[in-house]
Amino acid sequence: MQPIWPSTATHSRVPEHLDVAVVGAGPFGLSVAAWLDDLRTCVFGTPMHTWRTLMPPDMLMRSAWEETSLSARGRRGRIDEFAAEQRVERQEPIPLPLFLRYADWFRERFVAEHDDADVVHVEPAGAGFRLQTSAGREVEAGTIVVAVGVTPFPYAPPLFAGRMQSDPRIDFAVRHSAFADLTGRRVTIVGAGQAALETASLAADAGGDVEVLARSPVRWFADREPHTPRGPVDRRLYRIAYPVVGYGPPPINRLAVHPDAFAVLPWQLRRRLTGRLLRAGGSPWIRARVEGRVRLTEGVAATGVDDHGEALRLRLSDGTERDADLVLLATGYQFALDRLDWLAPGLRSQVALDRGWPRLDRRFRSTVPNLLFVGYPAEGRLGPIARFVLGAEFSARRVRGAIVRGGAPGATGSHPRG
Ligand SMILES: Cc1cc2nc3c(=O)[nH]c(=O)nc-3n(C[C@H](O)[C@H](O)[C@H](O)COP(=O)(O)OP(=O)(O)OC[C@H]3O[C@@H](n4cnc5c(N)ncnc54)[C@H](O)[C@@H]3O)c2cc1C
Repeated sequence: MQPIWPSTATHSRVPEHLDVAVVGAGPFGLSVAAWLDDLRTCVFGTPMHTWRTLMPPDMLMRSAWEETSLSARGRRGRIDEFAAEQRVERQEPIPLPLFLRYADWFRERFVAEHDDADVVHVEPAGAGFRLQTSAGREVEAGTIVVAVGVTPFPYAPPLFAGRMQSDPRIDFAVRHSAFADLTGRRVTIVGAGQAALETASLAADAGGDVEVLARSPVRWFADREPHTPRGPVDRRLYRIAYPVVGYGPPPINRLAVHPDAFAVLPWQLRRRLTGRLLRAGGSPWIRARVEGRVRLTEGVAATGVDDHGEALRLRLSDGTERDADLVLLATGYQFALDRLDWLAPGLRSQVALDRGWPRLDRRFRSTVPNLLFVGYPAEGRLGPIARFVLGAEFSARRVRGAIVRGGAPGATGSHPRG
């Protein structure tokens, strides 16, 4: 049986010198750490923070059972192994609490060192890095793997971007996982993806008068969900059409699982395909919660925003106006290196960017020796596989290749091609 590591979630002991520090304890960070179990590797951050705090606790996952596995070396740590060991029945759609239980099980078994604290500062030190945590701990690490997901990078359309710095009535939806009483308050959500619709449902639960503004008709994914009941022939056809769930229409959805093929496509095509493969929409369970409780206004964009007494007045592309007490933006994500302000400015300035994204090689290495990026920051090169749990195994295996085969820890070699 696999040795059971002591859980270090609350009483973490961090070695002073690490081979590898992984920043972020989501599915990607935990999997990377598990693949580096023979090195001194520590993963930093609250385990599964995004999932625990930013998603509705009774959320149902969209990804199919097989596509929702974290990964350890030797094909270990998959959700099937968890289910068999813990005598858990396969459930689809997967309830979020079950996924969180699985992630905790995975961390306890396969991640040797973990520190709950966030990383607040990283600077170069010799051939590696010096890192400081929110708990005041200082460690040195030969290699840093940045695995911070999408949440540091919410995108604000220009109309709102400047204003929201100083206006508390405008915020990112991703910053709200629960609301205090919103009775009598008008809440406008801009965007119509899963996150927008979940926020709308939560705001309605809190008594708000909620409207969602969508540029195009809201897409509901019912027909594409893996869990929709189908006869045997339809099931087979579905599996041929959708080898993985969550990525756009066939046949281009196959590209999502071939990141190396994706990476050689011209930049513009890559971005267009990514947009198409990750097209926004809502799962059936959220549809049941918003329809009839939230106004869905489709085919409009906000074109202006002004003060109107205590409220904000939004001008819309159809010539109408809306007054709102709170405007929440769920308008996607855009990578911006400056959002990682815990990387020392001198270090950030050495990370070469390609149209705003870190220039990475096929093993996730940036142009700063021994500084790697996995998950969303790698989407610019490797496409949508970077956005779903499905990409954790691919990424972790490649990172191991970079660190173990690329040289000794702390010496992963110089950056090859972009
Ligand atoms: C509403 C919604 C539903 C989704 N449903 C699915 C689904 O069904 N299936 C699926 O595969 N994907 C789904 N996703 C996508 C999901 O977010 C990603 O699959 C997954 O979280 C990517 O893992 P990650 O480790 O890259 O990022 P995350 O899970 O976001 O983990 C990154 C972690 O880094 C931490 N962090 C950031 N900065 C620091 C720091 N300085 N120090 C320490 N820690 C730090 C964060 O707190 C976070 O815990 C969904 C996303 C949303 C928004």
